[in-house]
Amino acid sequence: MDHPRRGADPRRHGLLEGDAARALLPRRQDHRDLRGHQRNPAARDRPQRDRRALKPSRHRHVPVSANANGGPEASVDADVIVVGAGLAGATAARLLVAAGHAVAVFDKGRGPGGRLSTRRVDDAAFDHGAIALQAQGDFSEWLAEAEQAGAAARMGTAWVGVPGMNALVQHALGPVRPRWGITVAALQRAGGRWIARDREGQPLAVATGLVLAIPPPQAIALIEAGRSHGSGDATAAVALGALCAALGDAQHDPVWAALLRVSAAAAARLRIGASGAGGGVVDGPLQRVSLDDAKPGRADAGQVVLHARSDWSIAHLDDDAEAVADRLVAASIDALPINASEVVSAVAHRWRYALPVRGCRLTGDDALRIALAGDAIGWEAGAGVHAAAQAWRSGLEAAARVRTWYADQPKS
Ligand SMILES: Cc1cc2nc3c(=O)[nH]c(=O)nc-3n(C[C@H](O)[C@H](O)[C@H](O)COP(=O)(O)OP(=O)(O)OC[C@H]3O[C@@H](n4cnc5c(N)ncnc54)[C@H](O)[C@@H]3O)c2cc1C
Repeated sequence: MDHPRRGADPRRHGLLEGDAARALLPRRQDHRDLRGHQRNPAARDRPQRDRRALKPSRHRHVPVSANANGGPEASVDADVIVVGAGLAGATAARLLVAAGHAVAVFDKGRGPGGRLSTRRVDDAAFDHGAIALQAQGDFSEWLAEAEQAGAAARMGTAWVGVPGMNALVQHALGPVRPRWGITVAALQRAGGRWIARDREGQPLAVATGLVLAIPPPQAIALIEAGRSHGSGDATAAVALGALCAALGDAQHDPVWAALLRVSAAAAARLRIGASGAGGGVVDGPLQRVSLDDAKPGRADAGQVVLHARSDWSIAHLDDDAEAVADRLVAASIDALPINASEVVSAVAHRWRYALPVRGCRLTGDDALRIALAGDAIGWEAGAGVHAAAQAWRSGLEAAARVRTWYADQPKS
């Protein structure tokens, strides 16, 4: 049974202080929880015969490596590792957990959101990624379901999360609890298994399958870092090279965002001119402006989000964040009915991979047991997509692909 060593960093195992304390207790239930994978409680409670039918892996406990004392490293033994719990990874993880798979989900963020994050600055909440989403077809139906659950609301022809955009990702996760604040630094394919490693090279999890739901440049970096730990057999190495080459087709444009608090008087003037979707195109470096406190379910605290145009963001990609905040505030004073004395505070955030402008057609490799997900996955270069809708659909497709891997597996 794998469980954390005494003195191991609790954050690496996604454990809070209380959980870390529980790790020292010898109760069986606690150890099972600490192995970190998740199952649908309903699936766990099914009769034994059903549960076996859902059990996709024959090898529950895989020795990953030995530590200095010759003992096994603390890591999670799962069927599937999901890296990235944005809308794509969250959607895939929930479906896989619901199907009874043991899933270990890692996200480097502090909580749900990814590029649908809601960030607090001085007690005010800002949607500093996507402002509002356009939706059609099945994604629209999913958002209507989220609306029923109180996690989404319509705003003109668009949708927003309630009370923040990150509520959409929380809704997508359902009962799944990713291990937040954990950065996967390398993904190694060895011996027919995927091993997720942290920055120190320590194994975080080992599994037969992988859902990689992060922007392609970051995905390539993790796979290449995994090769430095040993790339398994030559066939796998060639397939991984081809996968990275395909991922290299994708491209995202960056966006600099600025989060402003403005006075109540300025917010009131902006509200009068705000467009229905909470965003609008203005001149200069600014692409969109959102009066966040005018969205449903938000506190009225004068929150304004500015998004710079992508060409401006590319030109200023490596600028200092404070300098960018100053430039965007100046642009907003030029373009909007506010003056400098009404801007209470401003911080800038750079989204290096904000919006996909070129997709990657490849959606995975069954021999490698990797499924790709994310807004850049599964579409032709130049096709043009609603990014968040594509992220959500790619999560559905990744989960469907993973389930085929285990469908024919002999039951143990
Ligand atoms: C400024 C901005 C404006 C946007 N506007 C719109 C819009 O108007 N309409 C629209 O449809 N879409 C818009 N989008 C895009 C939309 O937000 C994304 O398409 C969608 O959220 C992507 O979801 P995802 O799951 O593919 O990726 P992400 O949300 O990026 O999720 C990836 C997750 O992986 C995690 N991660 C990354 N690397 C690691 C690692 N090494 N280890 C562990 N975790 C890791 C991240 O923390 C993140 O949570 C916008 C995005 C931005 C930034």
